[in-house]
Amino acid sequence: MTLHLYNTFLRAKEPFAPIDPSNVRMYVCGPTVYDLAHIGNARPVIIFDVLYRLLRLIYGEGHVTYVRNITDVDDKINAAAREKNVPIAEITAATTAAYHADMAAIGALPPDHEPRATETIPEMVAMIETLIQKGHAYAADGHVLFAVQSFEDYGKLSRRDQDELIAGARVEVAPYKKYPGDFVLWKPSDADTPGWDSPWGRGRPGWHIECSAMSKKHLGVTFDIHGGGRDLIFPHHENEVAQSVCANAAPFARYWVHNGFLTVEGEKMSKSLGNFRTVRQELEKAPGEAIRLAMLKTHYRQPLDWSDDSLKEAREAVGKWYRAYREVTGGAKYEGEASVPPAFAAALCDDLNTPEARTLLDAYAGEVFTAKTPAAKEVALKHLLGAANLLGLLTQGPDDWFHSEKGALEPAEIERLIAARIAARKGKDFAEADRIRDELAAAGVILEDRPGGVTEWRRA
Ligand SMILES: [Zn+2]
Repeated sequence: MTLHLYNTFLRAKEPFAPIDPSNVRMYVCGPTVYDLAHIGNARPVIIFDVLYRLLRLIYGEGHVTYVRNITDVDDKINAAAREKNVPIAEITAATTAAYHADMAAIGALPPDHEPRATETIPEMVAMIETLIQKGHAYAADGHVLFAVQSFEDYGKLSRRDQDELIAGARVEVAPYKKYPGDFVLWKPSDADTPGWDSPWGRGRPGWHIECSAMSKKHLGVTFDIHGGGRDLIFPHHENEVAQSVCANAAPFARYWVHNGFLTVEGEKMSKSLGNFRTVRQELEKAPGEAIRLAMLKTHYRQPLDWSDDSLKEAREAVGKWYRAYREVTGGAKYEGEASVPPAFAAALCDDLNTPEARTLLDAYAGEVFTAKTPAAKEVALKHLLGAANLLGLLTQGPDDWFHSEKGALEPAEIERLIAARIAARKGKDFAEADRIRDELAAAGVILEDRPGGVTEWRRA
């Protein structure tokens, strides 16, 4: 079983061979913490979480290092603080906490390291000094700029020539720039803006140098996988390559993995269109596992159209798989050992073919339903769970899934009414038993009477 990944650098799928199989290293660009995460931010988090789980399966849990940074110094953060009239540290602390809660709610494992830009300033300053010494950067007017013409391979990742690069970057022609395509490594800060002392005066880093410094600190100069959304290929990733290769005189990331764009109900998501959807808003509509499946139904490199219908369909599919799960355990979490079917691992090893993986999950759930004996059902469940868990799905017990879905009645109240109904039936008060059933139905709770006087419930 060999993992194949589409490498943006080659524009081709190729077999993945890590530099050191005992420590597979992956860096993914993390959030700029000025606002709640939206559903577009969640896409790379879920995709690279699946890749992280797959790498851990292949190389062993302790043999993968996943780094995802927090950008906590940025002009968007400064603007948000000014707009809300609160201290910058308050915005970044609250947004980081919300981000952690939201990503946990959609089932993403925390990365092994989550460096903050503000904790990596000395490393950035050192890297900028090296770039100046080597003739790849220059200081001018309190700024330090990277001289893109000093790096022969500039544009290779995004496959643009210099003119396109300048047009694509919509570069600002500033008096301190020697060449319009040069980009900022360091810029001056006034008294009201966060800043650090440096050889070029008090200032703050540009965004691109943050990722070059943080990846080097935690993964070394050359590492295996660098991920992010395809909107980051240019200029962000192109500039990371230029900085890192020139400063370290060594190759940077070997595999560049990028996810496709996301639209909402057929339109580009933007605040002006009013179709901005935060992860929190979507969690109000459906559980985190449904959000994950809605994201993974489409292959990561394809554009994805996020819609209420798609989320509803995903929620129903996960619910069906939990019903299969419940057939075996009666609602409890399965305590046995699950196993990943080889066909499932093979689908994911084919450049994360999650649409195929979803088809297989349906088949495994079908096998649970149709298996004739309890032993055969359990074997099918082991496949279903091993496969689903690799996607971060079916991670709770069936009762937890059916009971945690949002509804008018709390689970404890539902249990109390079910007990009252059972008592009414024992006392031959069928009118009362029916009344309770109707009351629950009106609240969207469906009862299923099982042999042996057991009543199970689920949300409609
Ligand atoms: Zn980055």
